[in-house]
Amino acid sequence: MRTPPPLDARGAATTTNVLVVTFQEGGSFGGGRVQSRRSGAGRGMAIGGGVGGLGLLVILAITLLSGGNVDPGALLGGGGEPGNDSTIGACTAEQANTDRACRLSATLDSLDTYWSSTMSDASATIPEAVEFTSAVSTACGQASSASGPFYCPGDQTIYLDLGFFDELTSRFGAEGGPLAEMYVYAHEYGHHIQNVTGVFGQADRGGSGAESDSVRVELQADCYAGMWAGNAATTKDPDTGVTYLEPISAAELAQALDAAAAVGDDHIQEQSGTNVNPDSWTHGSSEQRQRWFTTGYEQRDLAACDTFAARTL
Ligand SMILES: [Zn+2]
Repeated sequence: MRTPPPLDARGAATTTNVLVVTFQEGGSFGGGRVQSRRSGAGRGMAIGGGVGGLGLLVILAITLLSGGNVDPGALLGGGGEPGNDSTIGACTAEQANTDRACRLSATLDSLDTYWSSTMSDASATIPEAVEFTSAVSTACGQASSASGPFYCPGDQTIYLDLGFFDELTSRFGAEGGPLAEMYVYAHEYGHHIQNVTGVFGQADRGGSGAESDSVRVELQADCYAGMWAGNAATTKDPDTGVTYLEPISAAELAQALDAAAAVGDDHIQEQSGTNVNPDSWTHGSSEQRQRWFTTGYEQRDLAACDTFAARTL
């Protein structure tokens, strides 16, 4: 059973975030960028297989922010009915500042523009994006909301349930906030960049351990997320000429770092009541995830994000 998070979890996170990352006034986003596949049964419904509590947390730990090399549907026995397919429509900057779906859509626009100008093969750098509820069919198999956001290289698509961010605050103890959400989008987008550049194909993504390719892939995606964040306040929307985001403050940046820490392998192991065991890590520790995000944010350079060449991860 998956119970909806308590309202005060989200509410508290919202009210403490007095300083929020904001899209620049005058910005507008055309929409159509993100597909919606909603089951129609509403958010927070029970997922298949009767997995709950610790079981759910463990599955989240396995698959959280995954690079798509998992099949959570197989774990859960999940299967979604085809829902009402639509897209997230046009949003103003004001809507992107207050509505999660609009924030996702606008953030992807920003990511598209940033990575298209950063990569030499711009046409290859645009992934598809799907927000869903309950369960979804992908080229990587059936996935449920419990798998957390992930990127599937088979169909070059980012999948996520926007309700994940309630999990992030209520289950993982993250502060939440707009830049925390944007960090997750940018991390998954980073996996697409890795797919385009061939990192995904070369790395052994099936292993685990503190020095494993899996951890290097994940920390590099964090670094790429940092690169985007470091440039988001200077990147202009080519359609409107308006800079996407207001400059990011230190307090706002802390939201992204807090989210990165919350999904560190050591933190998740502690949360799930198991011993911290680096041999089973697939994403890196809280400290590592924060540090690599910061490296990308400060250096804004693909070469600085080469976790495979790094002597110290
Ligand atoms: Zn990842």
